[in-house]
Amino acid sequence: MRAIGPAGHIMKVYWDRNDDERSKAQLRSLRKSRYGISPDDRVCSFHSAVYMGNKLMPHEGSIVSRDGKQLSFSVMGLTDERLKSCLVEMADFGANWLSLRPSIALLLAEAIERHNLPIPPTLRYVELTGELLLDEHRRIIQGVFQVELAFLCSSGETNPIAFECKHKSLHVLDDDVAVEIVKGGHPVIGEVGGIHVTSLRNHAMPLIRFETGDIGLLLDTVCRCGEKTPTLKLVDSHPCEFFVSETGQRISGASMESIIEHTNESMSRAIRKFRITQKAPGEFDVELALKPAYVNWQESVKQEFLANVSEPGLKLAKWDFVYAEGSRNMRG
Ligand SMILES: [Zn+2]
Repeated sequence: MRAIGPAGHIMKVYWDRNDDERSKAQLRSLRKSRYGISPDDRVCSFHSAVYMGNKLMPHEGSIVSRDGKQLSFSVMGLTDERLKSCLVEMADFGANWLSLRPSIALLLAEAIERHNLPIPPTLRYVELTGELLLDEHRRIIQGVFQVELAFLCSSGETNPIAFECKHKSLHVLDDDVAVEIVKGGHPVIGEVGGIHVTSLRNHAMPLIRFETGDIGLLLDTVCRCGEKTPTLKLVDSHPCEFFVSETGQRISGASMESIIEHTNESMSRAIRKFRITQKAPGEFDVELALKPAYVNWQESVKQEFLANVSEPGLKLAKWDFVYAEGSRNMRG
């Protein structure tokens, strides 16, 4: 059984453009000092949704940012053939680093191994974010790419939260966020609890003690790298998971999230929580909790969801919809 859902409630957070930029400044500076990656270096990434301002853009195969420094590929349809063409585009683009989820990095790494594909020669660094990074996955990705690799803990609501140093400690980006671990209603250090984040940069829509839905602990021991900022240890977070199509193709959870994001955007953000569970190859349960004002929209939301299934590997899939009023086990 595989299930996904974003951590916590689905929430759209608005940012002032300058605040948004400022909230990434500490990360950019550390990326440079720790891994030698500057804002002028070229990055390739994969997207499940692309916003222009606050407007969600339709799916496109690949998009180059306005400043020409970022090339991003849609997470939809990541077959070996498509991954092969992504690698060619990355090499042509002169990618210096990759920013991607562990699940996508694994699909890419496995395609490289299976077909003996060339890694972009300009590549120096891989940054993994968006899903929990397991040690075994880190080893596989590191083994294939053979470049420096770091994990970034970030959320769509608060932007970067904590960034790994060379000693694999996740240092809190304390210029931009305050992180608290809450257990039994009280903040704790050195004990496992729910991760709460206060954004110190967002003046348009400030989030205070935002519960990310992830579980972790804060350590106040000094890291071997010498940095004094507290380090965060993730115990449970958005997992790195795959779904399997009828034809056996592995599909990143990011594709499902993309379908939900596009559905929600057209449906006045009616979906409050979701969970998608695989029953068999190509067969899924879609559990949706709608906001109270939209409970009569069940059929419209379902039709919109089906219309947004643009992942070629899911075209023949069978979907069973279940509407819940936020069951306790529903993560998303
Ligand atoms: Zn450190």
